[in-house]
Amino acid sequence: MISATQSNHPLGLVTNREPEDVTLTVACTRIRNSGMRVTKPRVALLAALLRFPGPASIERIHQEVGTKSCDLVTIYRCLAAFEGLGLVRRSYLHNGTCLYEQTVNAARRYHIICKECGRTDPVDYELAEGLEQKIAERGYTQVSHVVEFFGVCPICQQAAKAAASRVTAVKIVPSV
Ligand SMILES: [Zn+2]
Repeated sequence: MISATQSNHPLGLVTNREPEDVTLTVACTRIRNSGMRVTKPRVALLAALLRFPGPASIERIHQEVGTKSCDLVTIYRCLAAFEGLGLVRRSYLHNGTCLYEQTVNAARRYHIICKECGRTDPVDYELAEGLEQKIAERGYTQVSHVVEFFGVCPICQQAAKAAASRVTAVKIVPSV
């Protein structure tokens, strides 16, 4: 399935409602089948998670749900429950910030996260899938892993270059 949540912009939210609604129904069914109740905060949280193109911090997710409609403790509890059901995946930024990403309709994949602006781009998963397979062949079960890539995106590199040339220009002008 092609994810409608794919976007090159880290904060780019999905405008196409239909695939999101279908995914939301799938997620609610999985919650119900697990014996958990499908509550309003849980649905609101799922809907918010589906609007993010990649991993997002708990604070950003809380903002997206609406800070008035749901408190942070509820968000934490729901995310922990969703993780247990495999509806979300947890990862970490280079500074230790915890990020969550919905995995209902998204194929498992890594992200490259820009250390400057937080832009996230998907990275192919194939390599790690092969590794998990190898580990499983050695007799391990319930194999899981967390891998994230960090770097500086092309836009931030350009911005840094432009800023550096401005500094040089300022230095040169008085000496001319
Ligand atoms: Zn960047």
